[in-house]
Amino acid sequence: MKRHPLTPTRSPAEKAVGEAVVRPDLIERLAARQAQRARAALLRRLRTVESVDGARIVLDGKVLLNFASNDYLGLAQHPALVEALQRAATQWGIGSTAAHLLGGHREAHAALEEKLARWTGRERALLFSTGYMANLGAMQALLGGDPGAHPLQALCVQDKLNHASLIDAARLCGAQLTRYVHADVASAGRQLATQTDAVALLATDGVFSMDGDVAPLAGLAALCKKQHATLMVDDAHGIGVLGEEGAGSLSEAGVAAQHAPVLMATLGKALGVGGAFVAGSAALIDGLVQFARAHVYTTALPPALAAAASAAVDIARFEGWRRAKLARLIAHFRHGAAERGIDLMASSTPIQPVLIGASKAALDATLALEGEGFFVPAIRPPTVAQGKARLRVVLSARHEEQDVERLLNALARAVGRARSER
Ligand SMILES: *Cc1c(COP(=O)(O)O)cnc(C)c1O
Repeated sequence: MKRHPLTPTRSPAEKAVGEAVVRPDLIERLAARQAQRARAALLRRLRTVESVDGARIVLDGKVLLNFASNDYLGLAQHPALVEALQRAATQWGIGSTAAHLLGGHREAHAALEEKLARWTGRERALLFSTGYMANLGAMQALLGGDPGAHPLQALCVQDKLNHASLIDAARLCGAQLTRYVHADVASAGRQLATQTDAVALLATDGVFSMDGDVAPLAGLAALCKKQHATLMVDDAHGIGVLGEEGAGSLSEAGVAAQHAPVLMATLGKALGVGGAFVAGSAALIDGLVQFARAHVYTTALPPALAAAASAAVDIARFEGWRRAKLARLIAHFRHGAAERGIDLMASSTPIQPVLIGASKAALDATLALEGEGFFVPAIRPPTVAQGKARLRVVLSARHEEQDVERLLNALARAVGRARSER
C-alpha cells in the first residue's frame, strides 16, 4: 500500500526498536505540496526572458512592456556600468577567488564600500553577495550567541510585512521573533515592552516590497531610543529612489544615522547590479567582519560587479533627473488610476500594487495583461496574506508616459473583469 507522502503512518515513538524504518520520500513530498499549490492557483512558473531592451522584454517570443523590474532608475543596461564591468574584468578577471578575509577583498570592493558609506552618511559599509545574505549575516552577528556559550536572550521585533529574508534571519539566529501590526509604532512598542531584560533589535523594511508604502521610521527610531532597542532598516527599495541624492528612506524621513544604526540596502534594484551592503559605525562593521557568518564563509562578489556598482552609485546619486522622472510617472499612474476607478494602495513609491483578492482572479488578470503586451506578475500567498493577491505594478525611469497610459487602459479592463467575476 502506498502511503500519502505528507502523512507518516505513526509517530516515531510508536516504532518498535529494531523495526525497519520507512520514511516518507522527500522528493515525493515536494511533488505533493506542488500539486496542492496548483489546485489553489498558487503555482509559480519559472520563465525564461529571451531578451531585454530597457523596459521591454521578450517572453515566449512575445515583446512585453515590463512592469515588474526593480530597475527603478534604469541603470541595469546603462553603458557606463557595462563599461566599468568590462574594464574591471579585463584588469581583474572574473572571480574574486576567495572569501573577503582570505584574499578575495579587492580594491574595487574597498572603493565601493567607501563610496556607499559616504553616500549613506555612515562611517563604514560592508559588502555581501546578496541582500538575503546581508540580512542573515547582520542579524546573526547582532543577535546570535557564541557557539557553545549560554544562548543570548534576544528579542527580534519585526513588522508583519517585512521581507522574508529578515524573518528567516531572525529564525536562523535563534532570537525570539515577534511581529507587530504593519507600520504600527504602538504595536511595536507593546512587543518590545514584553521582555525588557532581553537585548532587542527592531527590524523593518524602509519601503515595503509588496505594498510600496514607507515605514514610520521617525516613530520607530524614537521608540527604539526610549526602549533601548537597536533599529535595523532594510532599504532594498528605498536606496537610490528616496531621500537626498537617493540616499534612501532614512534620509527621506530625516532620521539621523545614530538613531537607525544598522542600515542594509541592496545593489540589485535601483542600482541595477547585484549584491548588497550593511552600513553603519566602524564598531558595527568591524563586528560584522568578525562575526557575520554570511560574510566570512562565502566567496567575495566578483570585483567587476563591485566596479559596476561604483559607477551605478555615481549615476544614482548625481543624476537627479531619474528620480524626478520616476516621480512624474508615479503621479501620472496614480492620477490615471483614480480617473479610471482603479483602487490603489497607499504608496508614493514606484511599487504600485493593484489589490485583486483571490489568487485565481489575480492570475487571470496577469494573463489578460500579458495578452495585451504587458508583464505584470500576480503576487500571491504565501508572499502576501491569504485573500490579498495583487498585481504588483513597478514603475521605472525607463518607462515613458505613453507606456503608463497604455498600461492604465489595459489595467482598467483587467480589473473590471476581475471585479465582475467576483
Ligand atoms: C530584494 C530584497 C531583499 C533581498 O535582496 P537580494 O539582493 O535580492 O537578495 C531583501 N530585502 C528586501 C526588502 C528586498 O526587497
